[in-house]
Amino acid sequence: MALTSPALSRVRKGDLCSGCGLCAAISDGKIEMEVSDGGFLRPRQLAPLSGEEDRLISATCPGLRLAQPVSEGSTDHTLWGPVVQVRSGHAADPEMRRNASSGGALSALLAYLLEKKEVDYVVQTSADAGFPIGNVTVKSFGRDEVFDAAGSRYAPSAPLASLEAHLSEEGRFAFVGKPCDVAALRAMSRFDSRIERKIPYVFSFFCAGVPSLNGAREVLGRLGVKEGELQSFRYRGDGWPGFATAVSRDGRVARLSYADSWGGILSRHVQFRCKICPDGTGGAADIVCADAWICDDKGYPLFEEEEGWSLIVSRNRHGEGLLQRAMDDGAIVASQTDIDGIENMQPGQVKRKGLALSRIVAMAVTLKPVPRFAGFNLAKAARKPGIWQNVRSFLGTIRRIVLPGRK
Ligand SMILES: Cc1cc2nc3c(=O)[nH]c(=O)nc-3n(C[C@H](O)[C@H](O)[C@H](O)COP(=O)(O)OP(=O)(O)OC[C@H]3O[C@@H](n4cnc5c(N)ncnc54)[C@H](O)[C@@H]3O)c2cc1C
Ligand code: SF4
Ligand code: SF4
Repeated sequence: MALTSPALSRVRKGDLCSGCGLCAAISDGKIEMEVSDGGFLRPRQLAPLSGEEDRLISATCPGLRLAQPVSEGSTDHTLWGPVVQVRSGHAADPEMRRNASSGGALSALLAYLLEKKEVDYVVQTSADAGFPIGNVTVKSFGRDEVFDAAGSRYAPSAPLASLEAHLSEEGRFAFVGKPCDVAALRAMSRFDSRIERKIPYVFSFFCAGVPSLNGAREVLGRLGVKEGELQSFRYRGDGWPGFATAVSRDGRVARLSYADSWGGILSRHVQFRCKICPDGTGGAADIVCADAWICDDKGYPLFEEEEGWSLIVSRNRHGEGLLQRAMDDGAIVASQTDIDGIENMQPGQVKRKGLALSRIVAMAVTLKPVPRFAGFNLAKAARKPGIWQNVRSFLGTIRRIVLPGRK
């Protein structure tokens, strides 16, 4: 019996937690997720774990290890991972397209799976009605629930915390999570055969990192809205890119642009694990979606508001098959696009992957626990930003580790 889980101690020592919630699902109630002082979802151990539970966490926690799946005879791209096909497109349902983050492709696929009864429900993240800046994991049974959960929530989510409960229930479901959630789910499927049987489709999105809830509080401060007055809060969507929008109980609506909310505030509150993430593009999902926009070199769109377009990447034959059916049946409108064009849409992801190795080396040099990342082509990706950016990122990471208060 491990009084304090060695696996969790290692995660804590390296500040490696991404907040996925898998350890809570594995632990049979001995671990619960809670909001930390820093405003992130973090595990709290309530009772000793068995050696087996600790080993399972050690083998599956995305803070400690991550492996990119081998591509199925398709492209294994240095920057974008396993790729069968790249498309840009949108939900055929115009309301879904507008309400979602980019073109609503991800939500349209979920609604399609439900309509065709390929799954019984969807496990995804939505706004927490009782805590409007926070997130909650929900089960969606039809198009309208998927519609309500559409849109990116730039705040902590732990969609794997309830995994055991879902696997124990009747029915098959699709799962939506951050790339690290999805990678953890795949890692867990090596130990639990129910996962492949009960979760036929796994979706993700490109991810630049999870901001603390304190980021949302800073957005509210800028908008002049008190947290206690909030009726609802959305981070994006209802347009492309859409506004961070706070609605007060007295009906007042206050909005902040994507560049000011994500760019000016939220991106400064991203957790440490995200800064060394090798997998911001969801290599382990069946399908990933992202913003298919024309942007400046910092990744902000070169337009004010437009009708949304999603970048849609099928990562294996299974995901590609679903996409083809959804297009044939008119649920998704999409056309193929050049894989090299993603670089212009996602300069932030190019930089993050290119600098991941220098940041990991900086952790090793400062004797921090270092996660094991396999199959991500990080050495090759590091050539992209070049030697000087790598040196700066290495030194910057050391400075952040040694002087944690400084940005
Ligand atoms: C933290 C974060 C960082 C992101 N970084 C990038 C990026 O660097 N580049 C980029 O192109 N796109 C990024 N996105 C994704 C992007 O905003 C869109 O979600 C993506 O373009 C897909 O759009 P869509 O219209 O197809 O999805 P939608 O139809 O709007 O569906 C979004 C789905 O994501 C789920 N979801 C929303 N928030 C969370 C969350 N916090 N945790 C787990 N699931 C969630 C919802 O339940 C829904 O199923 C990020 C999203 C998040 C939440
Ligand atoms: S990353 Fe996930 S599994 Fe690892 S400690 Fe954090 S919540 Fe637990
Ligand atoms: S950046 Fe990486 S570690 Fe952070 S939330 Fe996204 S996928 Fe997870």
